[in-house]
Amino acid sequence: MTSPAVVWLRDDLRIADNPALRAGVDRGGPVVALYVLDDESPGIRPLGGATRWWLHHSLAALDDAVASRGGRLVLRRGPAAAVVPTVVAETGAGAVFWNRRYGASREIDARLKATLRADGVEVASFAANLLHEPWTVATGRGGAFQVFTPFWRAAQQLPVREPVPTPREVPGPRQVDSEELHAWALLPTRPDWAAGLRARWEPGEDAAHRRVERFATEVLADYHERDIPAQEATSLLSPRLRFGELSPVQLWHRVHGELSAAARRNVGAFLRELGWREFDASILYHRPDVAERNVRAEFDAFPWQPPREAELAAWQQGRTGIPLVDAGMRELWTTGYLPNRVRMVVASFLVKNLLADWRIGEAWFWDTLVDADEADNPANWQWVAGSGADAAPYFRVFNPELQARRFDPHGEYVRRWVPEAGTDAYRTPIVDLAASRADALAAFEHMRAAN
Ligand code: FAD
Repeated sequence: MTSPAVVWLRDDLRIADNPALRAGVDRGGPVVALYVLDDESPGIRPLGGATRWWLHHSLAALDDAVASRGGRLVLRRGPAAAVVPTVVAETGAGAVFWNRRYGASREIDARLKATLRADGVEVASFAANLLHEPWTVATGRGGAFQVFTPFWRAAQQLPVREPVPTPREVPGPRQVDSEELHAWALLPTRPDWAAGLRARWEPGEDAAHRRVERFATEVLADYHERDIPAQEATSLLSPRLRFGELSPVQLWHRVHGELSAAARRNVGAFLRELGWREFDASILYHRPDVAERNVRAEFDAFPWQPPREAELAAWQQGRTGIPLVDAGMRELWTTGYLPNRVRMVVASFLVKNLLADWRIGEAWFWDTLVDADEADNPANWQWVAGSGADAAPYFRVFNPELQARRFDPHGEYVRRWVPEAGTDAYRTPIVDLAASRADALAAFEHMRAAN
């Protein structure tokens, strides 16, 4: 009898194209599909409210998928460095497999690998959640790219692996205890603010694949209109990729498959956005503290202003009196999502017109986005703030009124979220856009003089 293999699942909540799960099944013995809720280990960033909601439903879907293949998902809570060896001991497992992650938590994995191996357990980790491992996309001198375009050019020279075959069966172990998903209290109760999330999203691998098909056959042809927030012109796959219900490899192969001519014209632009996801992962890999520290150190001297509570609350709640900003922030609060163009506008408003430190906005997004990602969120905030790798120049201050005129010319998006905009019931702006822009540029000059 082959001993059981523990397959430790993290941000890869899928059956298909899951190299660690495949390796567990191929080993020929029972598979202990394990998810560890770890909010306490150093290097782990505890999830925000919206991602906890998503995680609950995605785990429930995965449990069903594993069960329908003859196994079960084992849930445990606690520091992974202790929980994984405990499960290995309880089940008599002879092997542990996982798919790699790229932030500070990889220290946990490295140490665990060493201790398990010292105990004679076979351990293997796999590339699963990026098109390319970050260390394989390197400059001629072997270093990390600081600029996106050459990074993506180099990445595109590398072959993309084939998806691994989906296991038909995932044979479970005879007996192993699991905690109850509901006992983890990942869903909000008092108050239950998740109605808007439930209305918009259906987490889980099957729903992810339905969305990919719809995107490839109906939406991708309109991808050139992706900056128009009233339009559904993007994939809406970010939370799927965040939790690994879908791999970028599967997506890459799908959009290279059969498509209409109109869709094919947009493939390059779409893959470039996936390229930004790869670039952000590479930043995180080289700078695990990207959510805490400016990538460009000269920004340490930037005179951010502690935001007044009323201003911050107005931004968070979509009551700034600037229609496009308020529409985006209300969509975020209600659905856990807002389109990329609007993310840039609301972020620029916070860090430039209100002169708030980007980390304040990053933390709010971390709590409220269903796709909140430890690489993409801080990297994009730093991009907007000007402090990031290959960032927008600081003096580029988005004007939310011009942005609205350009990308929401008929006010459709604004009306959807801020029906009172343009009436007497709507509040006057909390800041003067021109004056606050001038203040931001002065603050930037102050920083430059200090460096
Ligand atoms: P599509 O246009 O369909 O793109 C396909 C995929 O490419 C996305 O699902 C995503 O994985 C990736 N992608 C697209 N744009 C970007 C980008 N600018 N940077 C990195 N990857 C990208 N994205 C996250 O996934 N998680 C975050 O926490 C996050 N925080 C952000 C914060 C700010 C301030 C900004 C400006 C952007 C942020 N983004 C984040 C990037 C981007 O806004 C979202 O990925 C995108 O809006 C998701 O919608 P979509 O899946 O329909 O995108």
